[in-house]
Amino acid sequence: MEYFLSEQQKTIKSLARRIAEEKILPVRAELDEKEEFPWSIIKDLADSDMFRVFIPEEYEGLGGGSFELCLVMEELSRVCSGVALSYAASALGSYSLKEYGTEEQKQKYLPQIASGEKLAAFALTESTAGSDATNIKTTAIPEDGGYVLNGTKQFITNAGEAELYTVVALTNPEKGIRGASAFLVEKGTPGFSFGKKERKMGVRASSTGELVFRNCLVPGENMLGREGMGFPIVMRLLDRSRPGVGAQAVGLAQGALEAAFDYARQRIQFGHPIISLQAVQLMLADMATALEAARLLVYGVARTIDSGAKSFTEESAMAKVFATDMAMKVTTDAVQIMGGAGYMKDYPVEKMMRDAKITQIYEGSNQALRTAIAFELRKRKARRE
Ligand SMILES: Cc1cc2nc3c(=O)[nH]c(=O)nc-3n(C[C@H](O)[C@H](O)[C@H](O)COP(=O)(O)OP(=O)(O)OC[C@H]3O[C@@H](n4cnc5c(N)ncnc54)[C@H](O)[C@@H]3O)c2cc1C
Repeated sequence: MEYFLSEQQKTIKSLARRIAEEKILPVRAELDEKEEFPWSIIKDLADSDMFRVFIPEEYEGLGGGSFELCLVMEELSRVCSGVALSYAASALGSYSLKEYGTEEQKQKYLPQIASGEKLAAFALTESTAGSDATNIKTTAIPEDGGYVLNGTKQFITNAGEAELYTVVALTNPEKGIRGASAFLVEKGTPGFSFGKKERKMGVRASSTGELVFRNCLVPGENMLGREGMGFPIVMRLLDRSRPGVGAQAVGLAQGALEAAFDYARQRIQFGHPIISLQAVQLMLADMATALEAARLLVYGVARTIDSGAKSFTEESAMAKVFATDMAMKVTTDAVQIMGGAGYMKDYPVEKMMRDAKITQIYEGSNQALRTAIAFELRKRKARRE
């Protein structure tokens, strides 16, 4: 389908594809096997200006929006969504800084993120606060002109690898989530350390782990926005980032469809390539159709966001839910089409199937997001009545 990309968007997309094929493809199985953080590929991405894509031009970026980020995510995920996740987490971790940071904060950090010299991360989740993000317990109590952080964040992408963390903590615990604020915390700040590193089913090239704060004094000037703005900052961020997970899913499914298609053309059974079997053709047709529908929705929502639209909570959730459910089905069907070979590590589709699972869980589980979509529908109906 024609998506009417600008010249700059075409360049970004083709560059991301080239890095994925030339640099990531040869090592993806090894990164997955060893659960190794892809530092050399992060450097390749940085050298190709990929981290500049999501940073404004004033801070040495290329000034891309949600759509350009989706294009990169799709191309990287087509080959390895673990690497793509490590890249995306830096965009996630720097988003609130772009939106709410002071000029001084932006000047200090954004150029380093744009150059890829420093990775960023975003830390909301805790053991008591997953889908229910309102139940965070980490505190940030005002003291000595700064804030003293205590608590543990879990399941944080880029934990230990990133240099800059956007952390959400309670500055006024009595008010619950209405007393939450967001902070920039640098790696190396005394009292900030890294706990358990998770071992995962998929996206194993990415790092996931705990952030531990023990009497960690963060300077007052590291707050993003004002005290008490933590939760609105998080909601705004997630509305904008969810199409990126959708793009990750689209890329994953594209990679799986291509692998299954190629295999079906060369695998001979009963004297013919299995692609001549109508049962296989119908599966491939359904996979391709669902994939294109998801791509359309993801691109549409990303472009809506970039247009400056004010409200798209529902659409953003829809794009994430639809694309990630699609990716789970398409990657599973790719394994099915490839039979026993698809189940083996000699082919990439078993990894893609494992990688697809997390896209249905993070940045709002698909069940929780369906509830949110239904809530928005009811709100809209109530407004009309
Ligand atoms: C690999 C990985 C990377 C991650 N990266 C980050 C990161 O960088 N930063 C960060 O802050 N967090 C991160 N997370 C956390 C992630 O966002 C949470 O895991 C996710 O929000 C789900 O929370 P939970 O795991 O506590 O599941 P739970 O909330 O315990 O959910 C368990 C089950 O209950 C269902 N459920 C819960 N509430 C509802 C509801 N209201 N309606 C319907 N069903 C519901 C869920 O759908 C799920 O099936 C990451 C997680 C993983 C696994």
